[in-house]
Amino acid sequence: MKILTDDCTVMKRLTRIIPFLFAGCLVFSFCAACAPGAGESSAALYTGIDKELYLTGRFDPASNDAFVDLESLGLPVRNGRQYLRREAAEALGRMYRQLKKEHPDITFYVRSSTRNFALQKHIWENKWNGVTPINGIRSGKAVAGPLERAKLILRYSSMPGTSRHHWGTDFDINELTNGYYESGEGAALYSWLAKNAGRYGFCQPYTRGRKSGYAEEKWHWSFTPLARQLTREWLNAYGSDRAAFLSGIRFAGVEHAAGLAPLYVESVDKDCR
Ligand SMILES: [Zn+2]
Repeated sequence: MKILTDDCTVMKRLTRIIPFLFAGCLVFSFCAACAPGAGESSAALYTGIDKELYLTGRFDPASNDAFVDLESLGLPVRNGRQYLRREAAEALGRMYRQLKKEHPDITFYVRSSTRNFALQKHIWENKWNGVTPINGIRSGKAVAGPLERAKLILRYSSMPGTSRHHWGTDFDINELTNGYYESGEGAALYSWLAKNAGRYGFCQPYTRGRKSGYAEEKWHWSFTPLARQLTREWLNAYGSDRAAFLSGIRFAGVEHAAGLAPLYVESVDKDCR
């Protein structure tokens, strides 16, 4: 009887505690989901590199063991060596083999993948200074207002330190015009990707019809399992201490353009979020 009473007391106490335990678990799970690299430890997510340096592309993928040369996996590339994070590269290899099984003659190659800060700075500053025209406009001369000039470049190019190409998760294929993917071979490839890429973990971040951010890019694809975490991490790092995050980030027009960065980082298709 004594034992029964004690059992009842224990049960009563447990009944009182369980809701708190349950709530505690929920809070813990929620926090765990928000923590750096929900699925991975912070060190694994950033491959041992300092978080700010990784998020802003200030490292060399060629000398990082977490990155793979795509050609070594049998993937066709252009413009020199192309690197992606191993998980993304292997998933891309699987997707490519299936594409070729179904469409042996279709053209597919990776023309640009991981780009570090220095390369993105080169791309940005050539547009800023009018060396590279944007839709036929040499912005360095034609667009005098710095904010307008930044917005024109931001239709298709990220400012250095804010590109998804820094993360080893994103790549561009074949041709950099949407028109290519709207007829013939390009349309066949795009329609296959739109239907199948998600099964391999890929999404198209810059789709048509989004309300803000970069214009539509049918050639740009992203490895969601890693890029989703890195997007959140980038926005958190910028939001929590903008001055610290931007310290060491130098490029032409940074004082005018940097404030626009979060809008462009977060404005991706719902499949990539
Ligand atoms: Zn791209």
